[in-house]
Amino acid sequence: MKIYLTGFIALLVIAWVGTLSVSGQGIHSLPWAIQSQAFYLSGLLAISLMSLAMVLATRPSWLERPLGGMDRVYRMHKWTAILAVSFAAMHWLLEDCDDLIESVFGRLGRPLEVQFSGLMHDLRDVGEELGEIGIYLLLAMVVLSLLKLFPYNLWRHVHRAMPLLYLALAFHVAVLAPSHYWSQPLGLLLGVLLVAGSCAAVMSLLGLIGQTRRARGSIVSISTPARDVTEVVCQLEPRWRGHRAGQFAFVSFDRFEGHHPFTIASADQGDRRVTFLIKALGDYTRTLPQRIAVGQAVTVEGPYGFFELPRRNPQARQIWVAGGIGVTPFIAWLEALRVKPDVALVTDLHYSTRNRATDPFVERLETLCADLPGVSLHIYDSQAGSTLSAEHLASLHDGLRKTEVWFCGPRTFAKRLRTGLTRAWRGHLRFHQEAFEMR
Ligand SMILES: Cc1cc2nc3c(=O)[nH]c(=O)nc-3n(C[C@H](O)[C@H](O)[C@H](O)COP(=O)(O)OP(=O)(O)OC[C@H]3O[C@@H](n4cnc5c(N)ncnc54)[C@H](O)[C@@H]3O)c2cc1C
Repeated sequence: MKIYLTGFIALLVIAWVGTLSVSGQGIHSLPWAIQSQAFYLSGLLAISLMSLAMVLATRPSWLERPLGGMDRVYRMHKWTAILAVSFAAMHWLLEDCDDLIESVFGRLGRPLEVQFSGLMHDLRDVGEELGEIGIYLLLAMVVLSLLKLFPYNLWRHVHRAMPLLYLALAFHVAVLAPSHYWSQPLGLLLGVLLVAGSCAAVMSLLGLIGQTRRARGSIVSISTPARDVTEVVCQLEPRWRGHRAGQFAFVSFDRFEGHHPFTIASADQGDRRVTFLIKALGDYTRTLPQRIAVGQAVTVEGPYGFFELPRRNPQARQIWVAGGIGVTPFIAWLEALRVKPDVALVTDLHYSTRNRATDPFVERLETLCADLPGVSLHIYDSQAGSTLSAEHLASLHDGLRKTEVWFCGPRTFAKRLRTGLTRAWRGHLRFHQEAFEMR
């Protein structure tokens, strides 16, 4: 992700450098020249990154392969948006530092404002107003996004205003960008980004995102294998194109609530039946059993994701680690392996649970693994004092050969394991992680 974002910013900076020789605004004193160019560069980077963030928000499945899955596409969307707002804040501060430069260096060498008349003058006025309001709203949005205490559900509704905000800022740029940009390669690049971002914003406002991947269906069974876990089986219409084990979908049981991402915890049997194992992790999922009924309509959008068995490197040692509800993609993998065994596959599956006695997945994993001689199952019961750590894994497996760890579980658990194993297996570790969080 860092490489792509750095490349994107570098491309913009190179194109912007190309415009410096044709700025055509006369000679400025150095402080004024720096302020003026930094002002335009920060604005250019802000709107370009915002356009990219808008495109990423359309859930482009063609980006899953290069980025490594839809959860990564979302993470890139988040960091792109944070960077965009940082540059936008810089742009806003630079606009306001005129008085400071004037008091220190004087007015001499200050760039002259280009005068417009008629419609263009009015449009530029509107653009300036929209830009100012837009930056305040953007800053507020980022603060809300980073504040994990702000309820996700509320945040999601507030976030829906982003396409409108983007369109206002795109208008601000279209009317206020220096006119010489448009005759340079930078103008072409900026134009493409503004058009792509605006199309993405309109798609979002019209509810078209993910539409081609949406299938309706109905709930055929509901059970509660544990007090805080609901298992829902859905039958989907022929429009559903099937899935690969380990993928996830956005599931909507209730139009007002909107969709939630859940892993498809079953292998594709070609019958368009999908199973979701849903843990009560928040406001909605806690009340889910009371909100759904057999026969109820459901909309499933997907499949998405790249946490897939065929992506493994056959030359590398395989270690699979599941924490709590993070077991769902592994259940799908094991089911798929039972349907289509892979004799070459040898792996250790480590499953960490709070309480083995009440955990419904332990028995399920034991049954699934019983027919798979290549899969060795290890259960850790944290209440009984048995915990999975990087040190423990490093003591079981030497660090002499290439090893792939496939992880799904809590973020902090992933971080600890990744850090410890990177240290223990220097240069031999490849860590694949499915993040159950998108914000
Ligand atoms: C790729 C992926 C696969 C997942 N698979 C499973 C699974 O198989 N089983 C399971 O129990 N859970 C799974 N989750 C987690 C599940 O999506 C959340 O627990 C659920 O959405 C929480 O909703 P809530 O309203 O009850 O909780 P809230 O308290 O509203 O939210 C808790 C957290 O869940 C996430 N979340 C909530 N709503 C959404 C949404 N609409 N879109 C994206 N993220 C949201 C946010 O990170 C939020 O901070 C998965 C998440 C992802 C991203």
